[in-house]
Amino acid sequence: MRTIGMLGGMSWKSSIEYYRIVNEAVRDRLGGTHSAKSVMVSVDFHEIEAMQQRGDWEAATAAMVAGARAVEAGGADVLLICTNTMHLMADEVQDAIGIPMLHIADATAAAVRAAGVEVVALLGTRFTMEQDFYRGRLAGRHGLDVRIPDDAGRAVVHDVIYDELVRGIVRDESRRAYLDIIDGLVAEGAQGVIAGCTEIELLVAPGDVAVPYFPTTRIHAEAAVDWALAEAP
Ligand code: GLU
Repeated sequence: MRTIGMLGGMSWKSSIEYYRIVNEAVRDRLGGTHSAKSVMVSVDFHEIEAMQQRGDWEAATAAMVAGARAVEAGGADVLLICTNTMHLMADEVQDAIGIPMLHIADATAAAVRAAGVEVVALLGTRFTMEQDFYRGRLAGRHGLDVRIPDDAGRAVVHDVIYDELVRGIVRDESRRAYLDIIDGLVAEGAQGVIAGCTEIELLVAPGDVAVPYFPTTRIHAEAAVDWALAEAP
């Protein structure tokens, strides 16, 4: 088994899920007392959020590069950045380390394609929904038709993430607001929904949604387990 490296803390509410899922998946696959070999470096999200808010992507990139190098130095064979948003600097991070990175959008796109879905709704932070590093990758590399909420909907989705989910607040009212937004996108043709922020699956479960649902934390963590248990080249 190879060692899974995780750059987490963004937020720690979803990093806990990464840790749980990689361990449960290895136990399910190997049985007995097996668990995942892993390394996690976890940041102070307050610092990262402040960089995002002031648009200091240079400092944010430096923080991600430093974290990724620490993960590699800790003995990881592969890196997961445990947030969709901070894949904004995925290329710079990959260039700074000697181990491969599993990109969360690639793992998610593979799951979407495997489900036979071509038109997919994307919910996440404004950065993830609006910028090219994520939407563009789903469309350009993977040929998906990506639909996002209108501006008011994007504001709701974004604010619930930062004001509630990363703080561990899960409200029925916010779940209803998300489900209304999802219903609207499905009515306009979306055949599935990407929970493109690693905390959304703490709010909306697959059973809440009538169409195929793609929770990125679970998909990313399980892809890492597939990689860790595959024959090393
Ligand atoms: N966990 C979130 C994501 O997957 C948002 C937190 C962040 O800004 O990194 O995008």
